[in-house]
Amino acid sequence: MATESVEAPGLIRGVGEMRRWSGQRRRAGHRIALVPTMGFLHEGHLSLVDRARDAADMVVMSIFVNPAQFGPNEDLDRYPRDLERDLRLASDRGVDVVFAPSAGDMYPGEQTIWVEPGHLGARLCGANRPGHFRGVLTVVLKLFEIVRPDTAVFGRKDLQQAFLIRRMVEELAVPVEVDVAPIVREPDGLAMSSRNAYLDPEERDRALSLARALAAIRAAFDTGDTSAASLVERGRDVLEAGGAGIEYLEIVGADDLEPVERASADSVCLVAARVGSTRLIDNTLLRV
Ligand code: AMP
Repeated sequence: MATESVEAPGLIRGVGEMRRWSGQRRRAGHRIALVPTMGFLHEGHLSLVDRARDAADMVVMSIFVNPAQFGPNEDLDRYPRDLERDLRLASDRGVDVVFAPSAGDMYPGEQTIWVEPGHLGARLCGANRPGHFRGVLTVVLKLFEIVRPDTAVFGRKDLQQAFLIRRMVEELAVPVEVDVAPIVREPDGLAMSSRNAYLDPEERDRALSLARALAAIRAAFDTGDTSAASLVERGRDVLEAGGAGIEYLEIVGADDLEPVERASADSVCLVAARVGSTRLIDNTLLRV
């Protein structure tokens, strides 16, 4: 019986091979887009691929669970992985090459040079995850150097990360366009995340309180409450009632991610909370 075969995207493991592939495509005049991920793909990741395909004619997706961005007591070892499934999903969505290096390939020796994110790297997610953003920025800069993409697509789900990557590209004059895509949510509002796989059904319910808290804050803002303290209070009530352990809930300016006292249409609300042992994040612009 004839089986329909979907052509798998090229899988590249080696740094040298990735450089050669990219170099050849660039010299042939192709525009390359990079979608950096840690794998265990969901629709959020795949929406980035759609944007990458709009922006370029060659799409590289990297899949690398980057040890440098995990703290000693975090979930590096249990982070979900399924390369075979990821290759299938990436292929169906039009990824040309999946670059999945080993940790030894990306960090062949001791890493002594790092990209330091500065003050903002120690706030919000950085306050609870020391060293996280320097790990992220360092690996993203390495990926940029290996793949040399024209453009790279990130998700607004990790707003502080996208902000710091834009800043790195600007301040270090990295020749890459950074595109930031909207958050993709489950039908009930939960922001998609590979870490949602950790949630049991009861925790999955509680996890909804992040999106609900953000919705409550937007609703209060829409009816005229602009006090950041009062908006945060409303959000905290929702999170606490939902059984989520708040790490932070802040209203900040969209252009600098610094706290504001008065919320405006240019403010963003960011939240990180624990549901059981799972750490989840979400955010929303207050502008409707
Ligand atoms: P990760 O694999 O979690 O490191 O995510 C890889 C990229 O996908 C990052 O740029 C994330 O911001 C983005 N991403 C993850 N979840 C979502 C989502 N629900 N919607 C949009 N982008 C996302």
